[in-house]
Amino acid sequence: MPYRHIDKGRVQSGYWREPGGGAWAHRTATLSGVSRGVGRACQHRKSVFMSIHRLHVIYIRPSRYDDDGYVIRHWRGVLPSNTLCCLEHLTRSLADSGAFAGDFAVTVETLDDTVQRIPLRRIARVNRKPGVRVVVGLTGVQTNQFARAADIALQLRAVGVQVMIGGFHVSGVLALFDAPSPELQQMLDAGVSLVKGEAEAPGALERILRDAAAGKMQPIYDIRDFPNLLDAPVPRYNSRMQRRYFSKTMATIDTSRGCPFNCSFCTIINVQGRKMRHRSAACVLQAIEENYADGIRTHFFTDDNFARNPAWEEILDGMIALRARGLDVNFMMQTDTQAHRIPNFVEKAARAGCYLAFIGMESVNPKNLEAVGKRQNHVEDYAEMVRAWRRHDVLVHVGYIVGLPHDTPESVRQDMETLHNKVQVDLASLFMLVPLPGSRDHYDMVRRGVPMDADPNNFDGLHETFRHPHMQPGQWRACYDASMAYLYSKENIVTRLLRSRVCYSHRFWLALWYRYATLEGAHPMATGLFRLKERLSRRAVFPREGLLRFTWRRIKDAAQGMRRYVGLFFEFQEIWMLTREPRDPRWAVLADLRERWEAVQERIAECNLRGRYDEAAQEALAMIAAAAERMRQLSAGGGALSASARRKLAALTQDVDRYLSSFDMQSGWMRVADARRYISERILAGYEEAAIRYVARRRQFNAYRRELAQSIRSGRILTMDIGRLPFALAWEIFFASRFMLHLLKSE
Ligand code: SF4
Repeated sequence: MPYRHIDKGRVQSGYWREPGGGAWAHRTATLSGVSRGVGRACQHRKSVFMSIHRLHVIYIRPSRYDDDGYVIRHWRGVLPSNTLCCLEHLTRSLADSGAFAGDFAVTVETLDDTVQRIPLRRIARVNRKPGVRVVVGLTGVQTNQFARAADIALQLRAVGVQVMIGGFHVSGVLALFDAPSPELQQMLDAGVSLVKGEAEAPGALERILRDAAAGKMQPIYDIRDFPNLLDAPVPRYNSRMQRRYFSKTMATIDTSRGCPFNCSFCTIINVQGRKMRHRSAACVLQAIEENYADGIRTHFFTDDNFARNPAWEEILDGMIALRARGLDVNFMMQTDTQAHRIPNFVEKAARAGCYLAFIGMESVNPKNLEAVGKRQNHVEDYAEMVRAWRRHDVLVHVGYIVGLPHDTPESVRQDMETLHNKVQVDLASLFMLVPLPGSRDHYDMVRRGVPMDADPNNFDGLHETFRHPHMQPGQWRACYDASMAYLYSKENIVTRLLRSRVCYSHRFWLALWYRYATLEGAHPMATGLFRLKERLSRRAVFPREGLLRFTWRRIKDAAQGMRRYVGLFFEFQEIWMLTREPRDPRWAVLADLRERWEAVQERIAECNLRGRYDEAAQEALAMIAAAAERMRQLSAGGGALSASARRKLAALTQDVDRYLSSFDMQSGWMRVADARRYISERILAGYEEAAIRYVARRRQFNAYRRELAQSIRSGRILTMDIGRLPFALAWEIFFASRFMLHLLKSE
């Protein structure tokens, strides 16, 4: 099926293949049929017969544009691109094997548009050098990166550089449709080559590089065979690139590809197949050991489903042996919701150093899972699954989709509460549903003629790309924002950090990162540290801003960014104070009180809905009595409490006792509302300030800071209370030093 409409009577031409998957060829079509024009060369694709002695291969990971048309680039990124590492190592290995010996030399360079400028002029200059030819590969291009990739490609083509684009967007479209989509056709028309499939396939990369060296690149490289990865070169750590990322000690490896499941929104199965292919355990372990020698301790296994890698046990056993030899290696992985049922899997993963499992949960609504064909997920097992991983001290990070077919704003709100309170995951990454080209969802929508956003840049999981059946335009994104705000609110972060003792500093950093991304309005997995903007690389559909206007924009950005960073700094100081010692009885009591309060609130809400206010009041009463009892026990236990904390706690307990004895003074829902306010504002906040050192002081200064800011904003500078300023500053320096010390130690 062509992925476009053919207007009646209008002749169209382009690269198509016969329905059912013939070879790609240039053809001309009218509504009545398709005529073949195999072999017709694109006018831009003139071959160059000049002989060369060096082929310079540049692999680029393109970024994407923000909603203002600027390239999203940061001073530091989160993770290096696995595809870049793979291709760099693959190309070097091929060149080192002598495949081109006597013909030409191959040099390789990698560039990451998300953390560095792409030096287009330098690339063109190198391409003009006598005896040197450049080929640029835009790699691992997902749909949301395609617009940026296309712009880079067109600029390079304009100066005569050969360009190819590969990745999930190209492979997904070409795998499912018999004609390229309009944006792919535009690339073909400009002389850009498209690469469908995996470069590890036998002879594939060598053929492409030979064509590039000869200046005779083909329009489409259709690599149909799924390569055997057993002995394929494993991506290696690149120290030059690594310094551009947040973590200097983390690298990526894909130990396998493919997935046996069949989720309708997923592109993996149509691009990499449903049969698992894997690297040999020996290759993976050797790469881990060599990376370790270069200072890399942590690996992210980017396989979409490590649990289905037939070599998982061998790899884990090998890592257990490495750790036994004293190598402090660890890793995180992606896996499915049933992995904990595989005998020994979780236990061995933990012993091998797994500290985080990223699990495709997608929804807590069984109807949604049914609708997207994710039948391997069983909602009733989720809580047990989380406990199974946690028993082995592995954090559970889930992928969750907002906007599945049965979602409504109200159901999503309830689902978030379930995720946080009942399933109790450590971390959740939310995405809005996107019909990605290459997925069954996208194919069906094209076939049914469902209108979709025409801009591939918006297919990033943060935009509404089609009309949701149960949400108005704008409501879906608002729903996503509200879900992130709920999950990464200060209160819920504190509850989650107190909930478990596992990997505290890791969870703290992750919470900080996700809160930062939430405030930035970016996706936590696709943002970075300190946003950079380049005036001249704005998307062509936006006007280029003048220097003054652009400078003003950057000043505003910097001011907003600074406000965000400062706000986070103070907020996370308090979060750290409230959570830093989950093993200490003072924090354990707080964890218990918060956990109970969340459960009680849910029951009260249910009772209120049914008008059973007496029952709701009983729930609140039981909570207050239990809190008083816990505080009394803690005071009696003594130990960690200072004399002043014990005094404050005794006063609070007396206050609670008084409240309890006067409890039936009010009636109906007002009594319940008053009890709720009392529990959260007096008992919980009071306990935190009485039992945990410096929390009260921190809050006092937060209030003072807000007061000062308010006075400045409203122009009441003369009436500001500046007498407390020196005292407050001294405390702020003390708090900041302690907090910074903690951050540095835990980094
Ligand atoms: S389990 Fe994950 S990787 Fe496998 S098909 Fe489903 S979404 Fe894709």
